[in-house]
Amino acid sequence: MIGITSYGAYIPRLRLDRMSIFQAMGWFAPAIMMVAQGHRSMCNWDEDSITMAVAASRDCLCGRDKKELDGLFLASTTLPFADRQNAGIVSTALNLKENILTSDFTSSQKAGTSALVTALEAVRGGGMKNILVTAADRRETKTAYFYEMWFGDGAASVAVGDKDVIAEFKGSYSVSYDFVDHHRGALKKYDYVWEERWVRDEGYSKIIPEAVNGLMKKLGITIDQVDKLVYPCFFKAEHSNIAKKLNASPDKVVNTMHETCGDTGAAHSMLMLVSALENAKPKDRILVAGFGQGCDALYFEVTENITKLSKRNGVKGSDKNKKVIDNYMKWLKFRDIIQTEMGIRAEAPTQTAMTALWRKRKMLLGMVGGKCEKCGTAQFPKMDICVNPACGAVKSQTDYEFAGVPAKVKTFTGDLLAVSVDPPHKYGMVQFEGGGRFMADFTDCEFEELKVGLPVQLVFRRRVEDKERGFINYFWKAMPVPGAAEEMGKVRFDGRVAVITGAGAGLGRVYALELAKRGAKIVVNDLGGSRDGSGAGSSSAADRVVDEIKAAGGEAVANYDNVATPEGGERIVKTALDAFGKVDILINNAGILRDKSFLKMEPENWKSVMDVHLTGAYNVTRPAFKVMRENGFGRIVMTTSAAGLYGNFGQTNYSAAKMALVGLMNTLKLEGKKYEIKVNTIAPLAASRLTEDVMPPEIFEKSKPEFVAPMVVYLCSEECRESGSIFNSGMGYCNRAAILTGPGIKLGDAGKPPTPEQISENWSRINSMEGAKEIEDANSAIFALIAPPDTGKKEAGGQKGAETDVKGIFGKMPEAFNASAAKDVDAVFQYVISGSGGGSWFVTVKDSKCNVTEGTAGKPTCTLKISDGDFVELITGKLNPMQAFTSGKLKIEGDIMKSQLIGKLFKLN
Ligand code: NAD
Repeated sequence: MIGITSYGAYIPRLRLDRMSIFQAMGWFAPAIMMVAQGHRSMCNWDEDSITMAVAASRDCLCGRDKKELDGLFLASTTLPFADRQNAGIVSTALNLKENILTSDFTSSQKAGTSALVTALEAVRGGGMKNILVTAADRRETKTAYFYEMWFGDGAASVAVGDKDVIAEFKGSYSVSYDFVDHHRGALKKYDYVWEERWVRDEGYSKIIPEAVNGLMKKLGITIDQVDKLVYPCFFKAEHSNIAKKLNASPDKVVNTMHETCGDTGAAHSMLMLVSALENAKPKDRILVAGFGQGCDALYFEVTENITKLSKRNGVKGSDKNKKVIDNYMKWLKFRDIIQTEMGIRAEAPTQTAMTALWRKRKMLLGMVGGKCEKCGTAQFPKMDICVNPACGAVKSQTDYEFAGVPAKVKTFTGDLLAVSVDPPHKYGMVQFEGGGRFMADFTDCEFEELKVGLPVQLVFRRRVEDKERGFINYFWKAMPVPGAAEEMGKVRFDGRVAVITGAGAGLGRVYALELAKRGAKIVVNDLGGSRDGSGAGSSSAADRVVDEIKAAGGEAVANYDNVATPEGGERIVKTALDAFGKVDILINNAGILRDKSFLKMEPENWKSVMDVHLTGAYNVTRPAFKVMRENGFGRIVMTTSAAGLYGNFGQTNYSAAKMALVGLMNTLKLEGKKYEIKVNTIAPLAASRLTEDVMPPEIFEKSKPEFVAPMVVYLCSEECRESGSIFNSGMGYCNRAAILTGPGIKLGDAGKPPTPEQISENWSRINSMEGAKEIEDANSAIFALIAPPDTGKKEAGGQKGAETDVKGIFGKMPEAFNASAAKDVDAVFQYVISGSGGGSWFVTVKDSKCNVTEGTAGKPTCTLKISDGDFVELITGKLNPMQAFTSGKLKIEGDIMKSQLIGKLFKLN
């Protein structure tokens, strides 16, 4: 059996919003509005047909032995070289063996299908066993043109052979006509296109049916024996008409991918075929046609092997990774349609020494380094002496392909001075898994996405173009692994064990689901009792949540104990230890309500609420705290309530219990501090059975536990450095509540207590909360009484909230001045800080001295504009200056170069 053995696809990450074309050029060509919907794919500035063909081929070859290939055919009408075999560059980049047939197929939109027919017939002939066919196109169009909207960039690859066939080749039929719907002269950049009506009526709608009918006749099949019909045609209505002419029902016709990327020229039929294969099941019969000066039609039947194919990116993966942009000027620049001043640095010689390229071809095009046979150290580039100082073996290295090895960012920079088509020029060191480092350019990412530790993969791209000699230099660059940046920034709980009490319903259930989704193993505790805690419990509530977690791929066990007894608490923690070996996170969430006005509040109601909320938290926390202390890690969340923090009629029992939990936290945070145990308290507001009759109906509808869970999840995370704080959370709002102490006043002296009269006289100062502070612990509170601050504004020992403010930073600037770096500097830096904590200050540096003045300077050397919050982050090292500048948070007017001295002149953090 011969046929397709593998497939792969590549559509560039960038997509241009078609409306942005209209927005920029609609004034000139209003008619393009008709087709200005969706987006088209566009190459990054460093991509072309060769780089896309390499990417699609790598996707196609994943999990395969490249040595099996006997041939590589590259089809495209936009090959970068008219005379230097382009397929040879792809083959070297892929590190294919040298005794291989390579060939370019070009000059027609059907070049892709023609290459595919040729490869299949070569395998059928028996002279070759495995051939890789790849097709890619990056067609240029003039601006403000329908074709600018319709075309897209992309590539597809299929391997054909006689083993492990996923789609059996049944036969092909071709027609060839010199039908000139469009043409591109040998030295022309753009196509010349004849009238659309004629192209449609005489071209697509006659020639495609002719070839398809010819094939069906040749093979003795009817359209009923076709499950997926693939043919290109960017005229939407005509595409449907062709199906009608062929009597094919619309559900068989494979989508033209106009919404995904646009028409990718010589690659398009193959790209649509790959898209059809991605969705195919065994026994599906696919008929594919390629159009251009005639038509090729091929017929395949999908086999069981398709189910065994390893995971690949394909069309779906490319689409998932897309980034839609609406910057039409960027498009024009990347396509080299507008000329920008690149500066004299761009004039540096770019000539490539063909001798060096030949000698180092494996290293430069194939990303082949070395691996020491003695010590196993991998290095790039390959050298005569092993880099491992403990080894130092000579001529011990064998070829080692780095292109497919996973890597991470070790260092990075964004250089605004270096020449770049897409500044800042992003480059840095990447570290390969298993050893080896490489100084790489970063591509297909924004500067803000780069982070140390970010997983990257290597991609083959254009590096420099030698326009004078018409030569393109290719090399490997590093690109963030799609989705890795978001994954990296995610709060995760892999390996952590969480106990959540009362997790069978309401808030606890959502906490459990969210923590499990992020990797935590969960003990779902719930007694399954009634709202007021009366009656016998039931295991169904906890079991249901455990089932939900497991169904979503998480790990969880149920526990049905009552938190209100010490034995129950012990057993809940034991459940975690037995199932998962530890407890890292505890959320004391179980709760009941027994509301009554105070005089009707009998001891029974008082006690049962105290037992579940306060004593329950004690019962579970105590054994959990022991484990956390031993392990040196813990996150505990108590659950209070607005009723406790602020009071609520009819809830004296509940308010008292809920506020008592704040007291429990206040001391536990001190006892847990040494052991990395953080204790915080949540005051949730969410719709649940506890609140359905106390909340107004419209608020009840709007508030879901999902709006509270993010805050609780964060408080449970390693990232959380907070301890001893209370947070209100609900309906998307989060804020902190705290117990504040006013500055007060000292009355009387050591031998003489103050009198009630003095208290009365000084009531307004005693009662004043102006300058109130949080106090860390009871000792600090006593200290504050013994030595109250003069104005209430100074920080006392142990007080929280010593925030850095803008004014304070300017006050400290003279101390932070580095006079030795200021030699010969004569500059005035004007700061305009927006926001409530902002203002204007200018810093004068002259004769190795510095002067900071509030206000506006007459003639500043440069003016820096930034918000108060961002300024504090910048100075405290939390915001990178380059990032602040490129993201627009920091705006610099005047002499930008001088502003770069600031970092050297002042060492503030
Ligand atoms: P809920 O009734 O939906 O959930 C509470 C769960 O705790 C129930 O599944 C219940 O079976 C379980 N439970 C009760 N007593 C138990 C016990 N002794 N042992 C084990 N499990 C027991 O209520 P919810 O609104 O999700 O409340 C969760 C927590 O949040 C409670 O502590 C509540 O006081 C607090 N709270 C909720 C709100 C809100 O707006 N929902 C506001 C403030 C505070």
